[in-house]
Amino acid sequence: MPIVAQTENIFIKSDWGQVLAQSLRSSEQLLTALELQPADFPEGLSPAQHFPLLVPRPFVARMQKGNPFDPLLLQVLPLAAEEQLHPSFITDPLGEQESNVATGIIHKYHGRVLLLAASGCAINCRYCFRRHFPYSDNRLGRAQWQAALNYIAQDRSISEVILSGGDPLMLQDERLAELVEAIAEMAHVQRLRIHSRLPVVIAERLTDELTDILTRTRLRSSLVLHVNHPNELSPEHGQRLARMRQAGVTLLNQTVLLKGVNDSAEVLIELSEQLFNHHLLPYYLHVLDRVQGAQHFDLSSAEAYGLYQQMLAKLPGYLVPKLVREEAGQPHKTPLHAF
Ligand SMILES: *Cc1c(COP(=O)(O)O)cnc(C)c1O
Ligand code: SF4
Repeated sequence: MPIVAQTENIFIKSDWGQVLAQSLRSSEQLLTALELQPADFPEGLSPAQHFPLLVPRPFVARMQKGNPFDPLLLQVLPLAAEEQLHPSFITDPLGEQESNVATGIIHKYHGRVLLLAASGCAINCRYCFRRHFPYSDNRLGRAQWQAALNYIAQDRSISEVILSGGDPLMLQDERLAELVEAIAEMAHVQRLRIHSRLPVVIAERLTDELTDILTRTRLRSSLVLHVNHPNELSPEHGQRLARMRQAGVTLLNQTVLLKGVNDSAEVLIELSEQLFNHHLLPYYLHVLDRVQGAQHFDLSSAEAYGLYQQMLAKLPGYLVPKLVREEAGQPHKTPLHAF
């Protein structure tokens, strides 16, 4: 008897929801897991009531035990420095609340809209420029989905829809599929982009179903991950991203430049090389948005540009991300230049 190939689609079992549910939610839990004490942070910790600690276990597993300066730890641990106020670090540095033209839509750039597809995230990043954004007012119920989609349908200048958030991959694949199908019905939309950090912290989120959603649509799809440090990547990412790329999804990365985390040429060069090894091309290197509570991550423009020049000197051009800043009122990201 000939061996008959199994025709049934075998999807990777998507248990990312379970991994997410087991995330750590307090500094005590995190420090215990890493064999650290509050005394290892002489400047103190913050209770962070309004933007609490949230970190999935696979991300914790990639931190070094006993190291209070671990670059992954510093992205999630609420330090007392967050409570210092500074006049140029404000709650809405990008003026997004003004471009919030319809519920769930941010339309600032020509031809592209952000659709805030989900309000939560899998991880609370301390530097996040959205930490003060009124997400609860932008939570999309069924009726609001329709209003946001109507906005896109009525503006024929929109050629690309960017699913953003929160983190759009917090949506279940079934919901995401519905949304992508609704967008694909609008003839003027050519491209779909997803910006997400979720698969960085839970690689299992890169399901075969997700690849399928992004490749069976007529839209050209890209996925932009947010990896900040080479230690965030794992062989699991490599395998899953390889499958997505083979299926035809364009895979990019954006990084935020963060003092104490990735502010050295060595780390940034290693990051670009590791991104490429994991099938991702570096797209943007963002300087920090001046958001209240994040000033301890800030670098001067001159420091940022100095790091960028060292990357130019050592890397092939396609591994050098664009160094940009987001300026309120500008209709595009602004490249940083020499001073
Ligand atoms: C970054 C961003 C985009 C996308 O910009 P690209 O340069 O196309 O990556 C769109 N809208 C807003 C509000 C953004 O901040
Ligand atoms: S929006 Fe991105 S940077 Fe901000 S908390 Fe969520 S995952 Fe982190």
